[in-house]
Amino acid sequence: MNSEDPLSRRDFLAASSIALGAAAVVGAEASAAAPPAKLALHGGEKAVVERLPKHIRWGAPEKERLDAMIGQDTLFYWKGPQTTLLLERFRKICPLPHATSCSSGTAALHIAVAAAGIAPGDEVITSPITDIGTVIGVLYQQAVPVFADLGRDTYNLDPQDVERRITPRTRAIIAVHLAGNPCDLGALKELADRRKLVLIEDCAQAWGARRGGKPIGTEGDFACFSLQNSKQVTCGDGGLVASGDPTFGPRLQQFGDKGMDRLASGGLFETFATNYRMSEPQAAVAAAQMERVESIAEARSRLGRILNDELAGVAGVDRPRVRDEDRCSFWFYMLRIRPEAFRCDRAEFVKALAAEGAPAAAGYIPVPLYGNPVFQRHGFFAGRWPVKEMGLTDMDYTKVSCPEAEAILKTCVRLMIHEGMTETYVRSLAAAVRKVAAHYAT
Ligand SMILES: *Cc1c(COP(=O)(O)O)cnc(C)c1O
Repeated sequence: MNSEDPLSRRDFLAASSIALGAAAVVGAEASAAAPPAKLALHGGEKAVVERLPKHIRWGAPEKERLDAMIGQDTLFYWKGPQTTLLLERFRKICPLPHATSCSSGTAALHIAVAAAGIAPGDEVITSPITDIGTVIGVLYQQAVPVFADLGRDTYNLDPQDVERRITPRTRAIIAVHLAGNPCDLGALKELADRRKLVLIEDCAQAWGARRGGKPIGTEGDFACFSLQNSKQVTCGDGGLVASGDPTFGPRLQQFGDKGMDRLASGGLFETFATNYRMSEPQAAVAAAQMERVESIAEARSRLGRILNDELAGVAGVDRPRVRDEDRCSFWFYMLRIRPEAFRCDRAEFVKALAAEGAPAAAGYIPVPLYGNPVFQRHGFFAGRWPVKEMGLTDMDYTKVSCPEAEAILKTCVRLMIHEGMTETYVRSLAAAVRKVAAHYAT
């Protein structure tokens, strides 16, 4: 394409300054050899000349399933053909003997917490950088989310900090595979086994990810997935929860279905639960989407690795760490910038990236979960928190501190990645980061 000349020239300039940097030559000499190109923000040429590739997410396969669904005489989930097909296809992605569809990722996590028998006052350790859906079910079961700190370049739970936060009340760990990068499940599982804790995997952002050779979700006691619109695959809203555990697994269905075990039947309610059922229209779309997971994850993993490789050695830019043997399905690509390395703040850095044509955003969630007003006020149930009033917990979210998580949120920059992007496009995103970093380098 005719945009390649200016791009490859910039690539060459940036690459030569990296090479000089790698040879332990100070930045000043590198920039003297190759003055940074003029920022698009200041009227220069854009580093990303290609338009943002279209993200086509559904089509003929989904239509075909919806057609089949509309010809049915029931749209109810139980033994519904779309739900049956969805679960059959899901089992190929996450091969566990027990699986249930449900209305959201939040529902999947709530079902897991309930099926694990987490009781009022029990503590569940998890990440403070996640969707609030990770802990909604914990709180509804009157259990207590305990936040542990994260790895500086994985943005996932630091197993050592998790261990430090274990108390006699700790019952479970929810490992969130942020942005599709597998947590250190080796360490977390060893810890969970040693301290007799339930391990729940929040795979909402990790469709198609793998740890070592293992599909994500298959190492913990529960796997929870979201099919919300923003995830790698979707049916608008939906979720899946699965387990290989012979005690927990058979409980999944009833905890999403008003506490009724449809296999035992009899119409009696043995347990207390809510209605988290997914209907056949959602299941139809979700079943078709299951067939896309592998190619989406393969593409995102490949493109994310290219971006990571292209950003090696950029001074002031810290890249996410993905183990060679793992597959990160990059729900997004998140790097961190070192404030002292640049003459601008993060907002300006991102403004400059956006001007270069890169789909970039400053930050992720505004504050760690515990920093949100509802946590700071302990006001979960009509402004009150029964377990605290009953003396079952002395948790005070105003005193919680996870310094690395807080630092991550202050320094992170996100770049959009999706499977419709080409390698050339992704390389131009890296060129934009290198150009902006070189311009503002101190
Ligand atoms: C999206 C998400 C959830 C919640 O899923 P919903 O389907 O939106 O309820 C939970 N955890 C993480 C990490 C998520 O990204």
